Amino acid sequence: MKRRKFISGNLALGAVLPGAYAMGFADTGNDRKAGKENEENGIIIEKVNDDLPHKGKVLAVIQPHNDDIPLFAAGTVAKLIYEGYTGYLIRTSNDEAAGKGDTMGERVLNNEKDNDEVARILGLKKVYSLDYRNHRMDEYNVQDIKARLIFLFRLLKVDTLICYDPWSQYEENPDHYVTAKAVEAARWMAGMHTDYPEQLEVVEPHTVKEMYYYARGPQIVNRVVDISKFIDIKVRSTIACRTQGPGGDNGAILRKSLADKGKKLSLLGNDDETANFNYIKQFVMDIDSEYWRGIRSDKKTGEKYGLGWAECFHYIGPQISRIEGYIEENAVPV
Ligand SMILES: [Zn+2]
Repeated sequence: MKRRKFISGNLALGAVLPGAYAMGFADTGNDRKAGKENEENGIIIEKVNDDLPHKGKVLAVIQPHNDDIPLFAAGTVAKLIYEGYTGYLIRTSNDEAAGKGDTMGERVLNNEKDNDEVARILGLKKVYSLDYRNHRMDEYNVQDIKARLIFLFRLLKVDTLICYDPWSQYEENPDHYVTAKAVEAARWMAGMHTDYPEQLEVVEPHTVKEMYYYARGPQIVNRVVDISKFIDIKVRSTIACRTQGPGGDNGAILRKSLADKGKKLSLLGNDDETANFNYIKQFVMDIDSEYWRGIRSDKKTGEKYGLGWAECFHYIGPQISRIEGYIEENAVPV
């Protein structure tokens, strides 16, 4: 499925926003504790930490369709799992309007298999599918979607989530923006004992405090994540989406069609597996990124920040009150 084309060039709004704006989100105690102090122009550069800094924490990886996370955020998911998170994949649609299969039932099944394979490749522990109808999520009552997400956030005690940005500047797919808005509301409502109180007979209130939001097209960016070590996992998770997106056998098909014309591209190698892998890594994630994904190449983003390959996010971290510190410094005996 071809992604809509966008104006190329510098799509990162973070680059034109005042540094203070990005700093407002990025300068949190949580960042400093996690050793994420690398910073350039108000944008936090998040590098790999080999010491399991997130051991014991829970990550919710949320996508409307099986290819969303693979295309936009799989490098960061793989990195966070490597750093100790236990991860769960939540897919909100049933993907029935996209992909291979003559009947709706075949398409649903094939997409479900792809989604399961994406979870396996990224090291995610379990998949939850909410199975709303594909491309029709704007017809559902958002209270239903929120209630289900709130229950999962409370049940799994989610610390951190990755999803489409509810505040992105442009998005044509209703499944993307409906999911994003529902997630953003649900993640803070989950912490209130007054919302869906009947759930509290089996789960506790629990707020999700850390969010990595991705977007296609114009994007708010205050965090760049180094995915150099995980780009090949991201590529494999994209290839696993055989039913939709640029995954599957596109590289092998292109290689064969060129051979039929007596031509070859060295980039596609000498076998189908290499062709499929390099088609995603070199074309989709780099050379033809804006056509397929509507965002700048992961490689060019990496180069801009002195990294190999990188993903961009609108990051929102835990909000830490300064009152306690103020009292410690200023309170006097009476
Ligand atoms: Zn999608």
